[in-house]
Amino acid sequence: MPAPPRNGERRTKKGFNPKARTDRAQQAGQDQDDSDDEVMMAAAQKANFEAAEGKAKAAVHKAAGNTFFASSNWAGAVQSFSEAIQCDPTDHVFFSNRSASYLNLGKTNEAVADAKECVKLSPAWAKGYSRLGAALWKEGKLADAKQAYSEGLKLEPTNAVIKQGLREVIEAMVGGGDKSSEPATAAPESKDVVPPSADVETTPAPVEDGPPVLGIDLGTTYSCVAVFMDGEVQVLADDEGRRTVPSYVAFNSGTGERLIGERAKAQASKNIDNTFFDVKRILGQKMSDEAVQKEAKRLPFKIIAGDNGQPLIQAEVNGKPRKLAPEEISAAVLGEMKRIAEARLGRTDLTKAVITVPAYFNDAQRKATQAAGAIAGLEVLRVINEPTAAALAYGLDEKGQAAQKGKGSNILIFDLGGGTFDVTVLRIEEGIFEVKATGGDTRLGGEDFDATVATHIIAELKKVHKLDVSGDAQKKSRVKAAVEKAKRALSSNEVTKVEIALDGEEYAIDLTRAKFEALNAEFFDRTLATVKKVLNDSKLKPTEIDEVVLVGGSTRIPKIQSMLREYMQVETLCKSVNPDEAVAYGAAVQGAILSGCRHPACSALLLVDVTPLSLGIETQGSNMSIIIPRNSQIPCTRSSIFTTTEDYQTGLEVKVFEGERPCTNSNHLLGDFHVSGIERAKREVPQIQVMFALDANGVLNVTASDLTTKVTASCQIGGACKGLSKEEIEKMLSEAAQYAAEDELFRRKLELKNQLEHIAYASSEADRDEILVWLEGRGMADMTVEQLEAKLKVLGYEPRTV
Ligand code: AMP
Repeated sequence: MPAPPRNGERRTKKGFNPKARTDRAQQAGQDQDDSDDEVMMAAAQKANFEAAEGKAKAAVHKAAGNTFFASSNWAGAVQSFSEAIQCDPTDHVFFSNRSASYLNLGKTNEAVADAKECVKLSPAWAKGYSRLGAALWKEGKLADAKQAYSEGLKLEPTNAVIKQGLREVIEAMVGGGDKSSEPATAAPESKDVVPPSADVETTPAPVEDGPPVLGIDLGTTYSCVAVFMDGEVQVLADDEGRRTVPSYVAFNSGTGERLIGERAKAQASKNIDNTFFDVKRILGQKMSDEAVQKEAKRLPFKIIAGDNGQPLIQAEVNGKPRKLAPEEISAAVLGEMKRIAEARLGRTDLTKAVITVPAYFNDAQRKATQAAGAIAGLEVLRVINEPTAAALAYGLDEKGQAAQKGKGSNILIFDLGGGTFDVTVLRIEEGIFEVKATGGDTRLGGEDFDATVATHIIAELKKVHKLDVSGDAQKKSRVKAAVEKAKRALSSNEVTKVEIALDGEEYAIDLTRAKFEALNAEFFDRTLATVKKVLNDSKLKPTEIDEVVLVGGSTRIPKIQSMLREYMQVETLCKSVNPDEAVAYGAAVQGAILSGCRHPACSALLLVDVTPLSLGIETQGSNMSIIIPRNSQIPCTRSSIFTTTEDYQTGLEVKVFEGERPCTNSNHLLGDFHVSGIERAKREVPQIQVMFALDANGVLNVTASDLTTKVTASCQIGGACKGLSKEEIEKMLSEAAQYAAEDELFRRKLELKNQLEHIAYASSEADRDEILVWLEGRGMADMTVEQLEAKLKVLGYEPRTV
């Protein structure tokens, strides 16, 4: 079979482009006489005729090409499309189709040339760029392929094939690995090429409309849940209309009831030992961590060390002591968010979730969050960073949509919540959210501001009112609640009063905004230092940031806002996203993307996140040998080659650390494992490849293998760092299910009791007393649903179900 002609030859041989010929005729007509005009007209007619004839023949060859293509006869397809091109070299679709055929033949140069020709002939045809992207990718030119796909997406933002191509090429770029230690890989051979019949817009296969994925912001102080449904994000409110729920869990020793959210928080000061909050501050950490020790001193409930070094929370459940893992408390909050969503949407099948974590959460903290989700009976599709989720929310916002168009925008997300602080710099362009750098502090937030003010108020109570509450946890808890209220008031007033009821007395202590700022100046300065560091990492100056987006309840503090405005040299900060809901909102969007939602609002978005801390292993002399530098895009796989330090050494310890310090002593140990069976050789001869694979959740897998003996050892760091085992999670899951059933039973009893009370107050005095005495004679814990229902029936009422 003859080789198909190359593009250039064909065009010169066949000779002309009908449109160009007509234009020339028109141009010449101005200074030609009539006879010349006739000649020209005849020539033009002939040209038109030839062109029409060429098009008709081309259509036949094209149809044959499509048939060959459909039967995977790539060579036949190339031949037919070449003939079509010879008949009509102006049709961009023929080049597009031949490009696809070449690609399947592995002739990437030809495929790229044809795709380029296609784009040249029809620069406004989005699919041409898709072809070019696919061909460049196969040629190994990932950056060029990304560029081509992006061009296509600009022309047709909803084109699913192009979006998919772009997504995949970015994933390939991100996960490209360390080229110095891995063979450079071209685009995967399995990459499907869009068949040429796709010159008619391909409609993606319809996806089944499954239940929506929950987007949950599991906050230190408050949590929030949202879903993407019917083309928009809905933030779901609890039974009383609250859109954020306190991350509080309590056990009522009297009734045996488990309380979650507002009900748990409301009774906190009366049930100090058995009300649990701020648990996110110890989640996924070890008891020996300095920070956990500090929290154990600060928090009013008891935190003790578990067998595996994990902090455990001492609780009393149904009169019996129980040790609860922080994951179990977080699971109760997550379970409540699931319950709220199911109640609000009238469904019982919301089992999938995207949960957010502070960007600065380490591997173990992420794993613990996943475990909490599993205990709550949730399939955690992805753990994403809070500021990145907020950026997605901003991206869907009108302002964010405008920012994505044109030249794109650099966005700084400043996320200051109750317990954590994050700063993230992203570039948003054409639906792609590319995190440039991230940083923060997992222990800085509104709770710290409350604590400094509370210390001041306790001192004032002592000085002015001669009242010492420092040894009384219950009173301290009241002070804390009053301080938080006053702090909120100071965001809109210059002066307020901290009002506390103690021992039947009302105390009111003045607090000015200036005093509040002075007390917390050090914390506020720390936030700005992080902003500087993250900007530095992203290699951007403050003036190069187009928008500063505020997220988290504590960004309402005026001083924080003025400091930021001044440093960033901006007049206004973006407050268009709701600071309390933006994170859950973005998580819901990511949930929709992951579940394959094809709605244009979210399917056009792509998130490229980074890892917040450098990851590496310890080498001789406690040296931190970095394998994945901080701010590397995730998911990613990187590897480095190491060797032995002693002659005939056949085993070695791989210690995995995260952190930025050159010496491992100052970094955080994530886990360690042993590799045995290394080649018996002189020191520095064996070659041990250590591979780090960081998944999209930021969870790390480490593998070490001897390149000669091929022995391999590996560990998933979350597990290595003594997080919960699979069995432990399963046990907790069944306990959580039991709690959920108990909660449900309690709710039902409460419902029936309320119904009875309602009936009592609407009855005659004698009947009322009888019913109330009956109710009072039984504690909620001792009463059964059956007894309550029977009582209602005796009174002639049907038990009501809500
Ligand atoms: P988040 O974790 O984003 O829900 O933020 C909760 C934190 O924001 C808590 O510490 C609240 O006290 C704090 N917060 C909420 N509203 C305000 C306000 N108006 N002024 C100051 N802090 C606030």
